[in-house]
Amino acid sequence: MIIFGTKGYLYTLAMITLVCGRCGNPAAHSLKKRVTKFSLFFVPLFPINTKYTTQCTFCGAAQQLSKEQADQLLAGVQQPQPQPQYGQPAAHDHQHPTA
Ligand SMILES: [Zn+2]
Repeated sequence: MIIFGTKGYLYTLAMITLVCGRCGNPAAHSLKKRVTKFSLFFVPLFPINTKYTTQCTFCGAAQQLSKEQADQLLAGVQQPQPQPQYGQPAAHDHQHPTA
């Protein structure tokens, strides 16, 4: 029996201040990337779909973007890229036993 399906991953790429098209406020928008991956036996294998959205933190309105639009937004972000939350630098200060 083969078990396959899809699994969705959501990444927050940046927080960008935009004038919201719905509420009209210059509010922070989260730029998010949703990747849908094909999985086999619950192991994600390869992405089959990638979507970019912005969501207004003021009114919650979400808007879908093309990859090009998302790239343009990211290129205009002055702050450095946010680090992945799981990418904490590992502490390598090993205990050196005194000889
Ligand atoms: Zn809004």
